[in-house]
Amino acid sequence: MTFESVVPCPRCGLPPGDTPPGVSRMTNEPLPPLWICTDCCADEADTDTYGDPPWPPTEWAHPPLGWT
Ligand SMILES: [Zn+2]
Repeated sequence: MTFESVVPCPRCGLPPGDTPPGVSRMTNEPLPPLWICTDCCADEADTDTYGDPPWPPTEWAHPPLGWT
């Protein structure tokens, strides 16, 4: 099994590649945590650092169930 067989990142819609996924900072209790790719985790961290508004999961490439 390769990483290519894993479902795409719900945030950017790209395959996760060789990097491990991480948990998004976006939460909507009691929904389960959102797993996104490493690039998206870094992007969320940058957004947080610069004080920009987060990219809401409802506007992601594949909006997660329960958020729409
Ligand atoms: Zn991503």
